[in-house]
Amino acid sequence: MFKLKAFSFLFFFVFHIALGHSFTFNNNAAAAFDKDEITVNVNDTDCAGADSGDSNYACNSDFITPQKLLDLTERAINRFWNRIPTTRLNLVRGSLVSKGNTFRRGQLCNESYASGTCTPNTALKVSSDILISCNCHKNNFGDSNVGILGVTIPNNYDGVAIKGSLILINGRHDGFHNLTDNEKINVIGHEIGHALGLGHSPVEDSLMYYSNIGKRDHLGWDDLDGISYLYPSSQPLNLNCGTVSLKSPNDSDSSESNSGPNNTSFFLLSFFSIVFLGFILRYGRRRFF
Ligand SMILES: [Zn+2]
Repeated sequence: MFKLKAFSFLFFFVFHIALGHSFTFNNNAAAAFDKDEITVNVNDTDCAGADSGDSNYACNSDFITPQKLLDLTERAINRFWNRIPTTRLNLVRGSLVSKGNTFRRGQLCNESYASGTCTPNTALKVSSDILISCNCHKNNFGDSNVGILGVTIPNNYDGVAIKGSLILINGRHDGFHNLTDNEKINVIGHEIGHALGLGHSPVEDSLMYYSNIGKRDHLGWDDLDGISYLYPSSQPLNLNCGTVSLKSPNDSDSSESNSGPNNTSFFLLSFFSIVFLGFILRYGRRRFF
């Protein structure tokens, strides 16, 4: 596994340098959705006070309703991602969809958020487009900190393109709930950036910068460069390095039955991005908020 991780990061580093840009990807294949119009749906299951007292997935007593989450999502789409002339992207406000309690209670990965690795939980695989749900599982957000506002992973990836991404907003603690509406919109906008394939930007003047997320109310030049690279307005589809194999010679221990050859390294890097955000929010939030 170590060799696989090293390979993933090496490739990522080389690819990043070769591109000559600052933005990063949420995966090591520069994967993006292979269609122009992407719908963002919200799970209709309420988190406020749900499963009270349960040690694994008790929710905070207060949380916005699914309808409010959908309304804020639409504002995030319009504030950030639908105003870019250099991309082919068109994000669409979806609807409340009935996903039951699975997405409220489920773990994003089979491992805990602090484990450093991620095998995506196939029970939460998003069949298409982007799904947002509140979620309260302690292994997604920890049990003693309130700093992780959300976690995002493109958890449906066919080896070439992203087919579905999942955004889980922290309903276990009150960190997200206590934000203003404007800050919530900005956090949702940041998470949608991850769902589209973007990683964190090292450029501070960016929505995809790893901290100060709630206060950031417009895209920066690096966000624009990144999203325009993934979704160029004048390019044909499917140019996202789909022919590059990332399979390591030692990848044979992968037992994930639904994984293609690229999936393990893809999700490892995605998860490191998530964990990194978690730690920054956990330790850096007081400095920036
Ligand atoms: Zn992030």
